[in-house]
Amino acid sequence: MIRGSHLVVALAVVAGAGVAGASAQEPRRTVADLMQTAGVKAALSAARANEPQAIDDQIRFCEIPAPSFKETARGAELRRTFQDLGLQNVRVDAAGNVVGDRPGAAQRPRLVVAAHLDTVFPDGTDVHVKREGAMLYGPGIGDDCRGLGVLVATIRALKQASVQTPGSITFVANVGEEGLGDLRGMKQLFNNTMKGQIDRFVSIDSTGLSIANVGVASRRYRVTFKGPGGHSFGSFGLANPIDAMGRAIAKIAEFQVPAEPRTTFNVGRVGGGTSVNSIPFEAWMEVDMRSSDRAPLASLDASFNKAVDAAVAEENARWGTPGVISVVKDVVGDRPAGSTSSDAAIVQTAIAVGEALGLRLGLAEGSTDANLPMSLHIPAITIGGGGRGVDAHALTEAFDTTDSWKGTQNAVLLTIALAQK
Ligand SMILES: [Zn+2]
Repeated sequence: MIRGSHLVVALAVVAGAGVAGASAQEPRRTVADLMQTAGVKAALSAARANEPQAIDDQIRFCEIPAPSFKETARGAELRRTFQDLGLQNVRVDAAGNVVGDRPGAAQRPRLVVAAHLDTVFPDGTDVHVKREGAMLYGPGIGDDCRGLGVLVATIRALKQASVQTPGSITFVANVGEEGLGDLRGMKQLFNNTMKGQIDRFVSIDSTGLSIANVGVASRRYRVTFKGPGGHSFGSFGLANPIDAMGRAIAKIAEFQVPAEPRTTFNVGRVGGGTSVNSIPFEAWMEVDMRSSDRAPLASLDASFNKAVDAAVAEENARWGTPGVISVVKDVVGDRPAGSTSSDAAIVQTAIAVGEALGLRLGLAEGSTDANLPMSLHIPAITIGGGGRGVDAHALTEAFDTTDSWKGTQNAVLLTIALAQK
């Protein structure tokens, strides 16, 4: 996701005269010319007129549970929708990505527009969506059911307006963006399913109207502390894996990180133990670390490893039992850093599209599916799906549909503009 104050740093608001560089002129001309064509006009009015349908789709997709690694049912619904809307060669790849083509006059350039199927909410979460006036309430309603709704609305608008593009477009509803999904959908898409065939990439993720052109790197661990375990009274004096983990967390909580480039850490989940009167034999935690730059993340990673090892040594020393507590650090996420230059044609085109529609789009950084193509030096950005999101990744997640059609129009015009030569 890209929104939420914990993730987004708006680097600049680009509007009007703010981007008057030479590199901005050509995309501006292209977009201005496109705006004059009957097909684009029809597609933009279809996008606006169909917004109630886009919102209905957003709700429908959202009410099908799709935790990371369990996206199959929601994917099947997207597959049906892709087929109904006339995409060609609709297929599900080995990872579970749903892929459908909209051929242009030529095979290349090929634009991929994607939105992710998966959510952070585990099996059993009530995903019923409640509607109150302009507000929608439901886990995942913004991140990324909004993206899926706009993805489908884009396909529908292009179809209704019979838009012909010089280049080709492939639409993807992908797996594995969230949590421990570790971009597995993108890895499959770029390394196998469409290897060497993607020239430009846009992810529609969550809400709002920013353009994320910086991909924040992340590194995630699951750390397991182990010991013999025993009776809390009878075996007292035995080193304790939960205590060792507590020592580690206390050290992590004191880490100092730079504000710029933004660098963050979080102990997100913990578990372990068997009962209140047992010295546990196991404890575990999951830790997430991020930075928009490689070096600070590497240094944070080193501090983390040192802290965990020191915590284990301290717990063993406390009871005079060297080696009793052991630790295993499994890397469960390794998302590459990358960026697309703000001068790049794809970014300038996205800015020009916003200007043409009278929207104020800011550049942002995020940790999204676009990280993977960015790391491969394929022009890539992530845009929001419009509307306003509240409480992403929380059970209280909500979406304000007020003027959300602007996000749909933005996606439609950007898709057309990036399917040009
Ligand atoms: Zn997301």
